[in-house]
Amino acid sequence: MDSVEKYIAEVLAEIRPLPSREIALADVLGAVLDGDVTAQWPLPPFDNSAMDGYAMRAAEIASATADNPVSLPVSGEIPAGSTAPNRVEPGTCMQIMTGAAMPGGADTVVPVEATDGGTAVVQIREAAPAGSSVRLKGGDAQPGDLLLASGTRIGPVHLGLLAAAGRATVRARPRPRVTVISTGDELIEPGTELIPGQIWESNGKMLAAAAQQAGCDARRYPIVRDNIAAVLAAVETAISEADLLITSGGVSMGGEHDVVKAALTTLGTVTFRKVAMQPGMPQGFGTLGPGSTPIFTLPGNPVSAYVSFCLFVLPALDALQGYERERGASPLPATLTKAVRSPAAKRSFLRGVLDRRADNQAAGQVTQVTPVTGQASHQLASLARANALVIVPEEITELDAGAVVDVLELP
Ligand code: AMP
Ligand code: MG
Repeated sequence: MDSVEKYIAEVLAEIRPLPSREIALADVLGAVLDGDVTAQWPLPPFDNSAMDGYAMRAAEIASATADNPVSLPVSGEIPAGSTAPNRVEPGTCMQIMTGAAMPGGADTVVPVEATDGGTAVVQIREAAPAGSSVRLKGGDAQPGDLLLASGTRIGPVHLGLLAAAGRATVRARPRPRVTVISTGDELIEPGTELIPGQIWESNGKMLAAAAQQAGCDARRYPIVRDNIAAVLAAVETAISEADLLITSGGVSMGGEHDVVKAALTTLGTVTFRKVAMQPGMPQGFGTLGPGSTPIFTLPGNPVSAYVSFCLFVLPALDALQGYERERGASPLPATLTKAVRSPAAKRSFLRGVLDRRADNQAAGQVTQVTPVTGQASHQLASLARANALVIVPEEITELDAGAVVDVLELP
C-alpha cells in the first residue's frame, strides 16, 4: 500500500499546468493570472469629487460658519460623466456630483449637507480645507503600480479591479474543464422509480458540484453501465472536452465487475493501487489521450469518493492552474469530544463536526471536534452532517476523548 503523501506526490508529478492565454473579463472568474498586472493608467484617472456638493476655492470659504455663512454665486453644474472643460472663476463655485471631474481653479468640495443647497447662489456653512472631498488622480494606484500578482486566482474583486484599470482581457490559466463519469449497473437518475437492487446516482452530481465549487467548469457524463466498451467509449468522448476526468466506481477488488479498472488497465497509462487510508483505499490515476489528460478513478462509495476528491483531486486542480495556496490544506488542531477507533496501518479521515463557535475561542479553548455517528463509507447522510475530517495517523488505533487531533475543514 502507498502512503497518502506518496500518492499525492506521484499525482502532482504528472500534472502539467494548462497553457495560459488572453482571457476576456467575462470568462476570467476563477482563472489564475500568469504574469503580474500593473496599472497602465492612474486610478482614479482624474481628480474628482467624493461628494455631491459644490466645488470652489478653499481660501474663499475659510471663515464660513453656521452663524456666518459665505455666499457664492453658482456658475453651473457638473454631473458625473461630463467631459466638458469646466473652470471655477474667483468668487464663484460650481455644483458638482460624486465622481464628476474637478473643475479648474477649484481645490475643495463642500458637501451639499454643509450648504443651503442653493442653485443660483449658495450659502456655505462650513469651511473645507483644500483637498476636502477631492479624490486625487492616482490616489488608489499610479501607473506602474502592481495591481495583482502573478498566481492570483481571480475573484470578484480582482475582476472589478481589472475592469477599473481598463483591462478587457488578461493573461491567465483558465478554469479547468472537468467531466465526471459515474459507472454502475445499479445506478439510476433521481426522479425515476427505484427497483430493489438499484440506487439513485449521487456521486456524479456531488463531484461535479465539488469541482464547480473549486472553480472549475464541471459537467456530468450520462451514467455509464458496467461494460468495458462503454467505459472506454465514455472516456474517449469526454476527453475531447475536458482538462481532467473523474470516474466513480468500478475500481475495487471485484475483478471483472470492476470495469473502470479493467478498461483503463488495457491502456497502460493509468495505474491502480491501494492507498493506506480509510475511506478511499482503492485509487487509480494516470493520463490519457494526446493531451495527456489526467484522470482520477475514484472509488464508488460516496464518502470515499468525496474524501478522495478533497485529498487528491483538489490539489491536482490547483496544479492545473499553477495555483499555490497560501495556507495549503493545512490541518488545525482540535480536541476530540469522543473516543474513536481506527484501523492499523491506515490513516483515517473520520467525519466530524468542528465547533468553531466564537465563545469557545474567546474562552481560549482549543476547538472541539465531535465525530459523527455513522462512519462507514456509504453513509452520505453522516457526511452531510460533518464539516471536517478528523485525521487519525496510521500507527494509532484508538484515541480517547480529550485527545488533540489534526482536523481538515471540508470546503
Ligand atoms: P464500486 O466502487 O463500483 O464497487 O461501488 C462501491 C459502492 O458505491 C457500491 O455500493 C455502489 O453502489 C456505490 N456507488 C457506486 N457509484 C455510485 C454513484 N455514482 N452514486 C452512488 N453510489 C454509488
Ligand atoms: Mg460499481
